Amino acid sequence: MSHQTFEFPAPWTDLRGGGPDEASWRDRVNRELRAEVPRGHALFRVSTDVLARCNGCDDIVVALPGGRFAIVHLTFARRPERLPYPSTIITESWAAAEQAILAEHPPDE
Ligand SMILES: [Zn+2]
Repeated sequence: MSHQTFEFPAPWTDLRGGGPDEASWRDRVNRELRAEVPRGHALFRVSTDVLARCNGCDDIVVALPGGRFAIVHLTFARRPERLPYPSTIITESWAAAEQAILAEHPPDE
């Protein structure tokens, strides 16, 4: 399974699609991420490709350069957070990202 074919389970919303809704959400969360990440954070000035957002907890999943991924808990503060926020899990592979995504909201919850 790759990050292109993974099916995001509820409460995740897949934002990889080409529709106007997906594009506007990608744009919105990317801008929010830029606004929140402070200097010194692992994602400061790192380019991100938004894959999905979670309706349950405001997390987003982004692809990073070099085949890495990040799951970020946005605060929607619209300004730089204080380190270590926004809380971020960075994984070196999609398999590890997938595990973190699936562990966040187990199906029986
Ligand atoms: Zn969540």
